[in-house]
Amino acid sequence: MIYLDYQATTPLAPEAREAMLHWLGDDSFGNPHSPHRMGRAAAAAVDVARQQVAALLPPGGRVVFTGSATEALNLALHDSGDVLTFATEHPAVLDCERHARRHGFRFEVLPVSADGRADAAALAGQRPPQVVAAMQVNNEIGTINPIPAIAAAAHDLGAVMLCDAVQGYGRIAIPDCVDLVAISAHKIHGPKGIGALWIRDGVKLFPLIRGGGQEGALRSGTLSPALCAGFGAAAAVAAQRIEEDAAHVAMLWDAARDVLSRWTLNGSAEHRWKGNLNLRLAGLNVNRLISECRGVMFAGGSACASGSGRPSHVLSALGLDPAEAKTSIRLGFGRYTSREDLLSACRQIDAAAREQGV
Ligand code: PLP
Repeated sequence: MIYLDYQATTPLAPEAREAMLHWLGDDSFGNPHSPHRMGRAAAAAVDVARQQVAALLPPGGRVVFTGSATEALNLALHDSGDVLTFATEHPAVLDCERHARRHGFRFEVLPVSADGRADAAALAGQRPPQVVAAMQVNNEIGTINPIPAIAAAAHDLGAVMLCDAVQGYGRIAIPDCVDLVAISAHKIHGPKGIGALWIRDGVKLFPLIRGGGQEGALRSGTLSPALCAGFGAAAAVAAQRIEEDAAHVAMLWDAARDVLSRWTLNGSAEHRWKGNLNLRLAGLNVNRLISECRGVMFAGGSACASGSGRPSHVLSALGLDPAEAKTSIRLGFGRYTSREDLLSACRQIDAAAREQGV
């Protein structure tokens, strides 16, 4: 099996697995919010993890653990006021529109350029919102947005800058100019079921989940020391390996592009995370391709997460018509992908496409 779906989720790092196991043991299951020795040990592990996660984020803020990046983004946008965002954002942002409108807030979605990037100039002259939301690296096509320019334009409007950094955190630097950052452990070789929102000091938010007052009363609920420790260990490994991982991914990208040179790249070739190769080939039947290349785990570029078969909102935002969008595939690779496996997968995919006569 060759796993090429790194944008959906990443393999668990051995270091993260190891860090988690201890907190699943018979004498280490304490509640990190309990005052006794077991509780204090668990709380200390959570603190260490929080520092490890924060080490890849700007200074001057705090990390609030959540159940996912989806929850972190929902928390950031909960009753936050008027929102300006972009058409290629993740549904965790875009689907907050209905709730915002129901509460009387504006929620405007700005177009992106044909190469899939948000443009800070689109913010000029807009009615000032309370929040501007823009992602760092797109999950479907890998394009990198000009976050410093967008944050500067947001600040000119007096807005808070929310950055969905799920696909960028641990891979490229998070710019200092943002105010809120959503991240997820399972995209950086950590466990599923934990994310975080980084909040700049002074930014006021309203809790989504109320209860015991954990996480500074912003996110009630008992934390899992095992998930926190796994997230922290994954972040620490990412921090150590950030350059090595990027170089490995760049090498893989060149190798894959060579084999698939007749395929058309979706999104900017220049401004991108190279672990994401979203390609299209006119006339391709993607579902057939996926079922024929059984040993390769990759995604169709067009099907939305719910599998409804609707063309992807991201590819549509680039100006692709539904037929073109439906001929797209996404190959996602990274730290644990070998060149040999990637080349073998690309050759299988290209051969299966040729069998279709395309
Ligand atoms: N934002 C982006 C860019 C993503 O890729 C994802 C996951 O696919 C999310 C948000 C949601 O992350 P989570 O799975 O932690 O809810």
